[in-house]
Amino acid sequence: MAPERWLFWHRRDLRLADNLGLAAAAAATPAVTGVFVLDPAILSGPLMAPARVWFLCESLRELAERWRAAGSRLLMLRGEPADLIPRAARAVGATVVAWNREVEPYGRERDRQVAAALQALGTRVLVDWDQLLVAPEAIRTGAGEPYRVYGPFLRNWRGQVEGRSGGLEPVEAPTGLLDLDPAALPAEGAPLWAALPRLEAPPTAEELGFSFAGADLCPCRSGEAAALAQLQAFADGGVNGGPLAAYEPGRNFPGEAGTSGLSAALSVGTLSPRQAWAAAQGARALARSEEALSSIGVWKQELAWREFYQQALFHFPELADGPYRPQWRHFPWEDDPARLQAWEQGLTGLPIIDAAMRQLNESGWMHNRCRMIVASFLVKDLIVDWRWGERAFMQRLVDGDLAANNGGWQWSASSGMDPKPLRIFNPFTQARKFDPEATYIRRWLPELAHVATGDLISGEIAPLERRGYPAPIVSHNVQQARFKALHAALPRG
Ligand SMILES: Cc1cc2nc3c(=O)[nH]c(=O)nc-3n(C[C@H](O)[C@H](O)[C@H](O)COP(=O)(O)OP(=O)(O)OC[C@H]3O[C@@H](n4cnc5c(N)ncnc54)[C@H](O)[C@@H]3O)c2cc1C
Repeated sequence: MAPERWLFWHRRDLRLADNLGLAAAAAATPAVTGVFVLDPAILSGPLMAPARVWFLCESLRELAERWRAAGSRLLMLRGEPADLIPRAARAVGATVVAWNREVEPYGRERDRQVAAALQALGTRVLVDWDQLLVAPEAIRTGAGEPYRVYGPFLRNWRGQVEGRSGGLEPVEAPTGLLDLDPAALPAEGAPLWAALPRLEAPPTAEELGFSFAGADLCPCRSGEAAALAQLQAFADGGVNGGPLAAYEPGRNFPGEAGTSGLSAALSVGTLSPRQAWAAAQGARALARSEEALSSIGVWKQELAWREFYQQALFHFPELADGPYRPQWRHFPWEDDPARLQAWEQGLTGLPIIDAAMRQLNESGWMHNRCRMIVASFLVKDLIVDWRWGERAFMQRLVDGDLAANNGGWQWSASSGMDPKPLRIFNPFTQARKFDPEATYIRRWLPELAHVATGDLISGEIAPLERRGYPAPIVSHNVQQARFKALHAALPRG
């Protein structure tokens, strides 16, 4: 008797290795077919970024090849998942459809609809967590509540992850799968198969109407193989350690390649968090200095931030709609479109801000230190509602991810879970500390390459030296005082 066929639905897990849902499917039957749905609600939505579409399409191309190399195939469909997944399951005669769970409100509602439609057909559904080291339901305070504060979350998370005796070792990619033969589909499957809106091959970003020219400038490499190679280059370095061993304090300096550049890979799942964790553990075993051990510990804390924001969005989906702290709903934002535009285009006249925004616009990525600086500036100096910034980031970032981006913006706006009441970054102090030679500023603002380092950092550039570069659109000191006064007038709570 032919083995029963399963369908495995890829979403934000674009890899074959260490994919827990796929591994479960392949353990149950060799007859597994992959499917990916190009969903117009996401691709044609207002928040899509050309860089993300590029990363997605390139990663899908490699994924399709991997499915072929494993013996089976990846179906590429275009349309609404709630319509297409049940149709695809029927067309290929799948008895089970498996996928990995998601935290975003849109994805959860979509999955609920797909699961209901499949169950109505009598098709079984298998779902579990894959994109997190600790599932959101498995991490709670002593009182059984979800975490709202990172510090206690980290202690619990670290205890669970480090205390686990097994289950975190990455699992191998399946091999020897059995492909389906469309010519041999049962009579009722053939017309369904013919009617499926299948693409012969993964599309390019251009075919989907997006154009991204910054691939060479972007630190994120698409596809499963490149993500793993990038992880190894970051974490491995023998006893002297790779960049990971010097992560602290290197991670703070945007002019240096001090961070992993793995955010897009972790976001679409060309890399799994277990693979990242295993690499950190491997580096730890080889580390010979306190600095290296501490660096590895700090990097793990960043992986924990990723999970903190995901569990927060899972338990508090309303975070996606507005401020976590209710009094921020009353903040009298000024939302000046000219200021917002100057910020978006990197034309505020403050070199560190403009360099960072140009990095984002040209490469689809921005260093974390600069994300914090430009976010604070938009909200607290330009007095623009942080949700405009959140949106502008999503429309540009290669690693744009609702949980991390919303978390980062709410943290920067002081409207989120972070218990520190008000946090205002001084862009000049930040530049002096973290770009002391103005390497980063000169890299992204070549028109200011001739300006003295001190002037680039202080932003006090003589009019003759500006050569078309704008004067500062606001005074940080003035705006900071105004912002504090507006904030002081907010209702407490
Ligand atoms: C305003 C703002 C918006 C942000 N938007 C996003 C976003 O859309 N997508 C995104 O992945 N990250 C976002 N971040 C977090 C962080 O800036 C990026 O994850 C990081 O810069 C990615 O670079 P890396 O891969 O070299 O990170 P590394 O320093 O090597 O860190 C390793 C991994 O840990 C995770 N991580 C690190 N810092 C954070 C953090 N603060 N929050 C959540 N996860 C983190 C990422 O998955 C990252 O790849 C945002 C931060 C801020 C302040």
